[in-house]
Amino acid sequence: MLVFDGHNDALGRLWCGSDNPVRDFAQPVGHINMPHAAAGGLGGGFFALYSPETRAPFDFDSFDGGQFDMPLPPKLDEAQALVAAIGQAGIAAQLQAAGYIDICTDAQSLARSFVSDRMACVLHLEGADCIGPDLLALDALYAMGLRSLGIVWSRPTIFGDGVPFQSGVDGDTGGGLTEDGKRLVARCAELGVMIDTSHLTMQGFWDVGAAGLPLVATHSNAYALGRNARNLTDAQLRAIAQSGGMAGLNFATVFLSDDGWRTGKAGLDDCIRQLDHMIEVAGEDHIGLGSDFDGAPMPEGIAHAGELPNLVAAMHAHGYGEALIAKLCNENWLTFLSRHLGDG
Ligand code: ZN
Repeated sequence: MLVFDGHNDALGRLWCGSDNPVRDFAQPVGHINMPHAAAGGLGGGFFALYSPETRAPFDFDSFDGGQFDMPLPPKLDEAQALVAAIGQAGIAAQLQAAGYIDICTDAQSLARSFVSDRMACVLHLEGADCIGPDLLALDALYAMGLRSLGIVWSRPTIFGDGVPFQSGVDGDTGGGLTEDGKRLVARCAELGVMIDTSHLTMQGFWDVGAAGLPLVATHSNAYALGRNARNLTDAQLRAIAQSGGMAGLNFATVFLSDDGWRTGKAGLDDCIRQLDHMIEVAGEDHIGLGSDFDGAPMPEGIAHAGELPNLVAAMHAHGYGEALIAKLCNENWLTFLSRHLGDG
């Protein structure tokens, strides 16, 4: 079963931790790389450009779930964020030139690349920290292949508020889109850049819906089972379905359950429980996967992309039929994206 995945941080991992991304992407290091993708049937996904506070290697091995509640960081400097975003777009271009990925900007190339031995990459900006009020960096990134944008990561930008990593509260933690944020959303709609609401406050989420766009949360789970600000209430899941949008199951241990938040540990059964609930509320046509590979601690049994078949096996064992598994693993995302990207 081939997988199209709603979110990964492979480009950020390489930018932060590798002096030779093309060489290292061919090694079985990290969650996503060529050998793990081939072994696990990962045909493509959203690849995030992410601006960290400091450029230092990611390490989830020493992850301590108990330390996860944290205050919202301040805004990131626009120029500093731009260095990270451009650097990671450069890595994507190098991986494409090396024959590992295709940066897909239309439905035809997405469909072709997904079933090829190259990974189909939809370039995503996770947090618009690098875009100023003139929005010019958006046009530059669009020209580099960007087709998806999260208005915020879990920090504020001039466009809106992100949710903190906080348990016991839903996403109603701050304000909605600013006037600049509404202009950014309108410009994205003009260009054909999808808006991702993962990390956005609940008010921001409703503001995106009020702009008439499909509501998409590429890597967010159900709040009913994991009570933290990064997850979606049932009302949000229903709105996603009504808008013709998508929610992607986030594998991060901390978002799967309240226990996962406390301990930093989770298993495949937690993933299945989340899928059951998300499907029950949003319907089976609006749910996909959004792993957060290379961006978060992973559950037992699905430590990296090479272990994706374990999740598929757990779906089978739980009684999901072949048609439903295909929808969850790739069809729903590919249907949504082929409509979104169109002829390019
Ligand atoms: Zn994220």
